[in-house]
Amino acid sequence: MSRATCATIHLDALRKNLHRIRLAAPASQVMAVVKADGYGHGLERVARAFSAADAFGVAALSDAERLRAAGEIKRIVLLSGPDEAADISRLRDLQVDIVIHHESQLRLLSEAGAGDSLRVWLKIDTGMSRLGFAASQAMEVYRWLRECRHVDPDIVCMTHFACSDEFAKNMTSAQIQRFAEALDGADCVRSMANSAAVLGWPQSHAQWIRPGGALYGLSSVEGRTGVQLGLQPAMTLSTRLIADKWIEPGTTVGYGAGFVAPQRMRLGIAAIGYGDGYPRLAGTGTPILVGGRRTGLVGRVSMDLLALDLTDLPEARVGDPVVAWGEGLPIEEVATCAGTLGYELACGITRRVRFEERDR
Ligand SMILES: *Cc1c(COP(=O)(O)O)cnc(C)c1O
Repeated sequence: MSRATCATIHLDALRKNLHRIRLAAPASQVMAVVKADGYGHGLERVARAFSAADAFGVAALSDAERLRAAGEIKRIVLLSGPDEAADISRLRDLQVDIVIHHESQLRLLSEAGAGDSLRVWLKIDTGMSRLGFAASQAMEVYRWLRECRHVDPDIVCMTHFACSDEFAKNMTSAQIQRFAEALDGADCVRSMANSAAVLGWPQSHAQWIRPGGALYGLSSVEGRTGVQLGLQPAMTLSTRLIADKWIEPGTTVGYGAGFVAPQRMRLGIAAIGYGDGYPRLAGTGTPILVGGRRTGLVGRVSMDLLALDLTDLPEARVGDPVVAWGEGLPIEEVATCAGTLGYELACGITRRVRFEERDR
């Protein structure tokens, strides 16, 4: 029998989440962010599910190539490129929009040979201190781009939020204001909002929103699951129980022998571990479903296996389905136990895991 570990991708959930996001920002166009292989859900697959989006956002030129190879004709935005001269002609061939965030890229544009004009998104840094021109340079660069013969005059100006998932903090309002001031007088189309800003900062919606995580049912808001934000989980990571046993009090479990049974316990062993992308830092008590019922991990997660507590699940049998996260168990709960975000878990599924699609 092949290994039971499987990531089921719920196409209907992807579509419904996109619809939910559209309703939250009805006046905005939607760039569905599909970087990191569609947040681990599979790039081509999610692009098909997001056929109602207005554009796709990718972080790597190779992802834009994959989308075009799959026959995607929608607008695609390379969120960080171009990096070198050769990228320019490739991006022109692929008809991919570019984000211009650094003066080294202005040189690439001015040195480009004749060819189709490029659609440009100008990135302004308003507090993230990652990519983007300083607010004080924004108008100068905007005017330069308007004059550049290789650039389509319909430039979109964008910025990115550092704390839009913290609805009570005023950093986001400050960034919105800094962005408006930086572009005072420019008649450009604008884009600010990531997922959390779409949901929590309506004043940031502007002409283009750029949701990623929310489309996959993922929450970046601390203490709130995707379900609690009105989203549907788009990935269920599952496997099967492949062994069970009773252990006596004092018996140790797993690497490091860090867990010591306080009483007689029935253990189950599930065929999933960090070699599949299940987080090794998820400790004893991390929730997991066996046959749809909730129990907890016992001891350390290993590469291919983990142990869980079956003491209170007498009906559980070898072969029963085990759900690591997804339907019935929010990925955010597991992520919290591992000290991370659902985003990171979804992106971390490894190549040996089989992917299946479901469409209800
Ligand atoms: C990743 C990314 C997004 C999407 O962020 P989410 O929190 O997943 O919605 C939007 N814009 C840019 C520039 C990004 O890099």
